[in-house]
Amino acid sequence: MAKQIQAVRGMNDCLPGDTQVWQKVEHILRETVSSFGYQEIRFPIVESTDLFKRSIGEVTDIVEKEMYTFADRNGDNLTLRPEGTAVCVRAGNENGLLYNQEQRLWYMGPMFRHERPQKGRYRQFHQFGLETFGIASADIDAEVILLTAQLWEAFGISEHVRLELNSLGSNEARAQYRDALIAFLEQHTNVLDEDSKRRMYSNPLRVLDTKNPDIQAILVDAPKLSEHLDIESKEHFENLCERLDAAGVKYTVNEKLVRGLDYYNRTVFEWVTDSLGAQGTVCAGGRYDGLVEQLGGKSTPAVGFAMGLERLVLLLQALECVGDIRRSADVYLAAMGDKASIQAPIIASTLRHDVPGLRVMVHAGGGNFKKQLKRADKSDALVAVIIGEDELEQGVVTIKYLRERKEQVTLELEHAKALLAELINS
Ligand code: ATP
Ligand code: MG
Repeated sequence: MAKQIQAVRGMNDCLPGDTQVWQKVEHILRETVSSFGYQEIRFPIVESTDLFKRSIGEVTDIVEKEMYTFADRNGDNLTLRPEGTAVCVRAGNENGLLYNQEQRLWYMGPMFRHERPQKGRYRQFHQFGLETFGIASADIDAEVILLTAQLWEAFGISEHVRLELNSLGSNEARAQYRDALIAFLEQHTNVLDEDSKRRMYSNPLRVLDTKNPDIQAILVDAPKLSEHLDIESKEHFENLCERLDAAGVKYTVNEKLVRGLDYYNRTVFEWVTDSLGAQGTVCAGGRYDGLVEQLGGKSTPAVGFAMGLERLVLLLQALECVGDIRRSADVYLAAMGDKASIQAPIIASTLRHDVPGLRVMVHAGGGNFKKQLKRADKSDALVAVIIGEDELEQGVVTIKYLRERKEQVTLELEHAKALLAELINS
């Protein structure tokens, strides 16, 4: 036997059964964001490497060590998208969607990061994300967060996720804070690890995000970002909190929450769960008022978030909140004899047409009655609809129950349709 070729490490297949869960999740996401008036945008999976370097920032985990970057056949430097926000802004600028306009957009699809694969962390993973453009006030920050809260509600997991919130202030406030933080870190270089030392000057805020417990311990006494916030950012944050309070959305302010990407200002937030172990952040986002301009557009305020779908699915499964999954077929149509076999797809079409929502799988591959019923049993159909020569002539079909002890019945096609409709709607 030839040697099998394996999937790339960290890139997973999604098999039937799981795809049903994914479809359900995707459906709820689409319905919910549509109910808020958001529209879908689709963009490429491959972009110029510069797009991510310029937006996410050179001194970030993603750009430093996680990107799938390669030269294509023309020698152009390309990258498999590690996230959607930069791409959305690129597409918005390029297609004239942003300047002087308001947009509420969403996207969904695969992202690529060369990380160490583990539960909840993969090299190809999927994000559902949403971006709003053109609105500077805190009402839109609140809307975006309320929308996520609505999603947890729709998934039935509100009790199992919590919101962490912070404000990074204006760029100027951050620059001031940066200096104060560097001065503090300089007094503790003996405790800092390699990563933190490297970042201390290039991206000191990222040191706050460290997982190293020794560094976390000294950071307790570090200067606080909140003490450096500019007055407008403070007001913006207070307004956001007031709106969340009014809507009954609970949160904790986490001053260490800085997010791993450079483009955020003011609001940043994460939804975290304790039910997934180390990979606990299900959804993360914030405001990024400078990015549109940074990528060559006209200055446009923006807020958005991205949600990791693998983590969401894992969470739904862990909490047994997946709910009912639709059967792939309600009816397995078995045909006895050549004539019936030729009529089978035609009868199936009538059934599908006249019984809205009915899923009919037609037997293929021939075989006797026993074989066909075995197949019917193996499918997840509720009933087998059987047609033979006699049935054809008389315009009737036989319905055989596959999942309950009930006598089979032979009915005129019209009556059979009514029965099947009742069956799937009960
Ligand atoms: P983390 O701290 O877990 O690495 P991040 O800050 O890098 O997350 P973002 O870039 O903000 O993550 O992406 C938003 C969401 O996408 C995350 O909260 C997470 O749910 C999901 N996500 C990020 N990286 C991965 C990955 N490698 N595999 C699966 N999901 C991921
Ligand atoms: Mg990461």
